[in-house]
Amino acid sequence: MSQARDPRMLAARNILIVAPHADDESLGCGGLAAILARDGRHFHTLFVTDGGASHRNSPTWPRPALAAKRLQEAEDALAILGLGVMPRSFLDLPDADLPEEGSSGWDAALGVIRAVAAGFGPDLVLLPWRRDPHSDHRAAWHLVTQALALEGLTPDRLEYAIWLDELGAADDHPRPGEMRRVSFDIAAAVETKRAAVAAHLSQTTALIDDDPDGFRLDETTIARLTGPIESYWQDGQAD
Ligand SMILES: [Zn+2]
Repeated sequence: MSQARDPRMLAARNILIVAPHADDESLGCGGLAAILARDGRHFHTLFVTDGGASHRNSPTWPRPALAAKRLQEAEDALAILGLGVMPRSFLDLPDADLPEEGSSGWDAALGVIRAVAAGFGPDLVLLPWRRDPHSDHRAAWHLVTQALALEGLTPDRLEYAIWLDELGAADDHPRPGEMRRVSFDIAAAVETKRAAVAAHLSQTTALIDDDPDGFRLDETTIARLTGPIESYWQDGQAD
């Protein structure tokens, strides 16, 4: 087991956050982001989907209204994390219905991500765990990994898992020797992180209460992901 490190020990200056959905930026890496933003590091946050599938059957929140709400919640969360003045991109791909790899839609998304990556020049990318059990999270990993390779960029990468612990099959977890666990002490930003998560009102409260199948983050998931330690997977031999 490795010790939880001080995030400020990371040398990265330009950090690209990849969030498949608005809320992943806070749940997955909000603590690290808040501490490093206070330390003067630069961020670009890339939101991959429009988030419009969380409440498909709400009569009062048709998809465009929900997507607009989620964009605003993303902006609110970034402001809380200290990233409000830093650049971000919204790809607005359809939530839970991303284009097939190799399709024209996929290539178009790849082109946008390549331009973002080339312009920003990240030396660290915080992105979803490659086999997180959510198809959008996996696709986001593939899109960003391909875009970096096509641009010839080789930043460090730290992968955050959102659903692995709750929903992962045995095969979804890192294999022996595949990844190294890297943990950070984010106690100094834990309240900030929780506030950023809570800014996603459509995902954490009964704001949208007319879709019986609507998604809502439950308290257990939020508590699991907002403790004083934030952990990632990094390529390389396990400790
Ligand atoms: Zn997500």
